[in-house]
Amino acid sequence: MNILITGGAGFVCSHLADKLYEKKHNLFLLDNLLTGNKRNIDHLLGNENVRFIEHDVQNHIEISDEIDFIFHFASAASPIAYQENPINTLKAGSIGTINTLGLAKVKKADYLLASTSEIYGDPEVSPQSENYWGNVNPNGERSMYDEAKRFAEAATATYSRTYSLNTKVVRIFNTYGPRMQLNDGRVVTNFIVQALNNENITVYGDGLQTRSFSYVDDTVGGIIALMESDHNDVFNIGNPNEITVNELATRIISLTNSNSKLINKDLPKDDPKQRRPDITKAKNLLKWEPKIELEVGLTKTIDWVNSQL
Ligand code: UDP
Repeated sequence: MNILITGGAGFVCSHLADKLYEKKHNLFLLDNLLTGNKRNIDHLLGNENVRFIEHDVQNHIEISDEIDFIFHFASAASPIAYQENPINTLKAGSIGTINTLGLAKVKKADYLLASTSEIYGDPEVSPQSENYWGNVNPNGERSMYDEAKRFAEAATATYSRTYSLNTKVVRIFNTYGPRMQLNDGRVVTNFIVQALNNENITVYGDGLQTRSFSYVDDTVGGIIALMESDHNDVFNIGNPNEITVNELATRIISLTNSNSKLINKDLPKDDPKQRRPDITKAKNLLKWEPKIELEVGLTKTIDWVNSQL
């Protein structure tokens, strides 16, 4: 297939591109390089069936080749990155989604939207299943991302109904692994860098808030299972193994044999207290579930971060 991936030079998409390349697809990797980096896909570029297009999805997208499948992933995705690029984030989720859906319509391509656990906001139920509608502050500090992604889901559903497009939505929960940006403020990379440097580990708030971390190979496995399935629907993809931020810090200190100590900093506004995917639907319908234990994934990530310092 000819496959377009927006956000193609980003962390998750570079791993997605690796897997799709192994499957012999032709890849068009589109990215504005705002938070993506060509380093992530350097090893793929130069192959004749991989093309890089530097472009921002908020502008009209013109591709002359046939396109069979579109992944729309382009967006800043870490709280620091989307708060530093708030207007671009709003536009990537809204105008960028409309532009890529319009392209899917013209090309008669199937479509997969990267949504996020952030659409559940600060959830009042746990774990979160796909039929929970969320608890989002529409004008809060995260709303440029949360609400743009919620709009993106609405746009995808509406184009699908109106133009009979085959569309799929993946709600990605916290994902970690090699090629994350080291300076975008994510908890896993922050803690690993601090631990490797024997610096204080910056726990925001009391550290009792929870997250559920999925290793990138598992997340990409789920995305490809959805792509290859007949299901045109919404799926949570993530790891239900929920831990507190304090526990994460302790595990990283132990895996890195670090002398770092935990210190507490202010909790950012609208920081969700808990997050844990209900992945029953993906297990039943996609026959997918994560396999990589946190210790194993963290060890691989620590090795990679170490190689970058
Ligand atoms: N966090 C932290 N210390 C850091 C970075 C993040 O305690 O140095 C916390 C943050 O407040 C949140 C959790 O870790 O509760 C996950 O943050 P991240 O930015 O990775 O992503 P989020 O899940 O909030 O989108």
